[in-house]
Amino acid sequence: MTTSLLLNFFAGRWQTGTGAGTPLFDPVLGTELARVSSAGIDLAEGFAFAREQGGTALRALNYGQRAGLLTQIVEVLQTNRDAYYEIATANSGTVAKDSAVDIDGAIFTLGYFAKQGAALGDAKLLLDGQRIRMAKDPAFQTQHIQVPTQGVALFINAFNFPSWGLWEKAAPALLSGVPVIIKPATATAWLTQRMVKDVVDAGILPVGAISVICGSSAGLMDQLQAFDVVSFTGSAETGKLIRSHRAVTELSVRCNIEADSLNSALLAPGATADSEAFKLLVAEVAREMTAKSGQKCTAIRRIFVPRALYKAAALAIGARLAKTTVGNPRSDTVRMGALVSQEQKASVLAGLAQLKTEASVLFDGNSAALVDADASSACVAPVLLGTESPMAAKVLHAVEVFGPVSTLMPYDSVEEAYAMIRRGEGSLVCSVYSEDPVFTAQASVELASSHGRVHAISPDVATLHSGHGNVMPMSLHGGPGRAGGGEELGGLRALHFYHRRSAVQGSSLALDQLTAQGTTLPL
Ligand code: NAP
Repeated sequence: MTTSLLLNFFAGRWQTGTGAGTPLFDPVLGTELARVSSAGIDLAEGFAFAREQGGTALRALNYGQRAGLLTQIVEVLQTNRDAYYEIATANSGTVAKDSAVDIDGAIFTLGYFAKQGAALGDAKLLLDGQRIRMAKDPAFQTQHIQVPTQGVALFINAFNFPSWGLWEKAAPALLSGVPVIIKPATATAWLTQRMVKDVVDAGILPVGAISVICGSSAGLMDQLQAFDVVSFTGSAETGKLIRSHRAVTELSVRCNIEADSLNSALLAPGATADSEAFKLLVAEVAREMTAKSGQKCTAIRRIFVPRALYKAAALAIGARLAKTTVGNPRSDTVRMGALVSQEQKASVLAGLAQLKTEASVLFDGNSAALVDADASSACVAPVLLGTESPMAAKVLHAVEVFGPVSTLMPYDSVEEAYAMIRRGEGSLVCSVYSEDPVFTAQASVELASSHGRVHAISPDVATLHSGHGNVMPMSLHGGPGRAGGGEELGGLRALHFYHRRSAVQGSSLALDQLTAQGTTLPL
């Protein structure tokens, strides 16, 4: 059965793309859910409308008023939460706790920026540092300020977080006063489209402040102008195309890229098999491998343990994974649902075959029967791989398998572990498990230059920590090198991407006027 096309909200009105569109499927049942098409939409009109109508209206408000808009968005999303869970089950194949990471994670992030933004009150610009004297006479000084960019923010998003991926970007953009255009990944575009629809229908935002275009990305980058920004999340390959587009190379369009990442977990050298640090690592690895079927950019892909603990770690992680029932997320007994599509299943199986050229299988859940799903579904059970010669490996440090797959590797010295972790060439997050605060601090400094986040876990925070892979709005998200070189979130630091810094050199009397309109970010 052919389903109907999802509407695009563009240039301030609902528009249907032309043609038959691209179908979206239920990855467990295989049924078609909806179709998307951006064909025939006047892109130039939509970008101009967002810039002129949406941008002007948002900038007329102060930070406190825009924070109030975020609060209203939170209320609308809360009201419609059940519908979002249903869409996630059908289109992403996720169990409720995994849908929560995406849906409730988004609502939490929006709520966080609403609260932080409210504290900026009636300011209309950001003061950046103190005034600096330019001459002997203090009458002439310089004040750095940041003002919202007078363009649009284009978001090109990945399939794994159709909700959080939208709002973690839109919250700081809208708070900054910058209109947003969202192009969700096709496979899971329905949830993004539905959330935008609910917010538009509620009439919260000025028209043009938020737009959604589902379907092909063709031509979107061509629309960007000098004061626009683009934030991309997805594969390194597509990231390269974005980064090399004329808009970025010639117009200097500001570009944030969150790409793939071979994140690590490190067990401290002093740990033993009955230590708390060991148990914490084992529990977190099993959780990370199975949450959202391993389709998290932050998931643990490589696990480093002292050589003496290699076999114990393999057994303990395997025992945990064996408890993970896989299948139809609608079944109460299922703990892990499907990958988002048949394409992702094929990609995970191909990646697994590549990793197996250098690693052996320590645990494979695929011998167990799926619950309420058959082999034709996009379900893949967790697989733990391992090698006793990780220093000689190449593929294991280079190939990201975007599914429930991780590789265990022993190290002989902590310097060797650091060297192998860095062979990921820059990652989003590394977690460290230790009972020694001195080691934890040393490891954090060592790992900080190659990771956007170091998640340092010890027994005293065992029940408090937010999880290796959970991206929290108050902490930085992004990573150097291969991870894309991007920075998102980090509390109100996120606003920097949507502002332009300028040095105003002038009379102290004029600078007093600026100070009266501005505020300093409480970082
Ligand atoms: P992808 O194929 O690169 O797609 C990402 C987005 O780019 C989609 O919206 C896609 O649209 C669009 N796109 C594809 N070709 C394009 C082009 N030529 N120009 C402009 N846009 C284009 O990535 P994916 O397979 O969806 O996502 C998986 C990857 O994302 C993984 O490697 C994962 O590590 C990474 N990821 C990173 C983060 C992070 O925060 N660092 C978060 C999540 C995922 P269509 O869907 O319509 O093709």
